Amino acid sequence: MSTQETIPAMLRSHGLRVTPQRLALAELILSKPTHITARMAYETLRESHPAISMNTIYLTLRQLESSGLLNHFEVNGNAIFDSNTAPHDHACCNRCKVIIDLTHQQTVLPVLPTALEHWHIDHEQRIWSGLCPECTEV
Ligand SMILES: [Zn+2]
Ligand SMILES: [Zn+2]
Repeated sequence: MSTQETIPAMLRSHGLRVTPQRLALAELILSKPTHITARMAYETLRESHPAISMNTIYLTLRQLESSGLLNHFEVNGNAIFDSNTAPHDHACCNRCKVIIDLTHQQTVLPVLPTALEHWHIDHEQRIWSGLCPECTEV
């Protein structure tokens, strides 16, 4: 994970121009493992960068993703951007919407479905959903 000081250098090394808005977004999402939607990033950054647009956010997130600094996955039709790029699964609470990372050591790796036996699989990710312990207690 990157510290704030290295983020501008990291953006440049991926050929991304460093602008104040792009840097603020990169710091928000890359300085710690984060799950965020474009809308959440927009709501967070709008206060410090009133001129930022959803379009800038989307474009920057896509650029960071194609540079390999982010991944995204979908939950209920929302694209969630994830700065943890190591292979992992997710668990998502249907009520409070919390999303947690599950390393592959914490889950049993699936057996390759027979229908895929002649495929070369390079990516496999599952989303476990239900109610988290806090929501189960209510
Ligand atoms: Zn919950
Ligand atoms: Zn994650």
